[in-house]
Amino acid sequence: MSFASLKLHHDIIQQVTKLGYSAPTPIQLAAIPVVLSGKDLMAGAQTGTGKTAAFALPLLQHILNKQGSHNTEGIQVLVLTPTRELAQQVHTSFIKYSTGLPIKSVVAYGGASINVQLDALKQGCDVLVATPGRLLELIMKNLIDLSYLQTLVLDEADRMLDMGFIIDIQRVLKKLPVSRQTLFFSATFNDDIFALSKTLLKDPQLIEV
Ligand code: AMP
Repeated sequence: MSFASLKLHHDIIQQVTKLGYSAPTPIQLAAIPVVLSGKDLMAGAQTGTGKTAAFALPLLQHILNKQGSHNTEGIQVLVLTPTRELAQQVHTSFIKYSTGLPIKSVVAYGGASINVQLDALKQGCDVLVATPGRLLELIMKNLIDLSYLQTLVLDEADRMLDMGFIIDIQRVLKKLPVSRQTLFFSATFNDDIFALSKTLLKDPQLIEV
């Protein structure tokens, strides 16, 4: 199976080809059609499996498809990550996969200047990658507009729960549009993870690789 057979946009395929990706990984093969279909997703995937591209590539495609229509002037994709390192890594991946495309990614995490992050947001942002604490700060101070959000991604949800972010996540969720796609990635599953996923996902497709 090739990236082309997954019906990805030509510019996106060209980009991954330039990066030397010759074929999709198993999580990409399984997840990309689900994400493109607009359905919610619950995926069991470890780091190193190519899970970032599994959600980033089809979400970039959603943004490209929407461009030129209404409701495209704000943050369309929000990725929540447990750590600033992962946030930076996911943000870098979005930049890498969208090189040459009219799509902007911004990263926001605690311990770094909020003003620098706000300046970046003001210059336009399609994809925001954030840690829960800093995102909540931006929301509570009314510094961010999430009303255009189409897709929420929870990356490494198990680590987010382990790190005690459940309350922050729940507070963030209250501020997001109810009508959205939600993608849930976790390396491990237990009762707490299932409980969180149930509050977030509507009729999700399950994938484990
Ligand atoms: P991740 O699991 O998202 O952290 O990705 C792990 C590594 O795999 C990253 O360095 C990606 O650049 C790389 N990668 C992702 N998808 C592919 C692919 N289809 N072919 C080759 N490498 C890939």
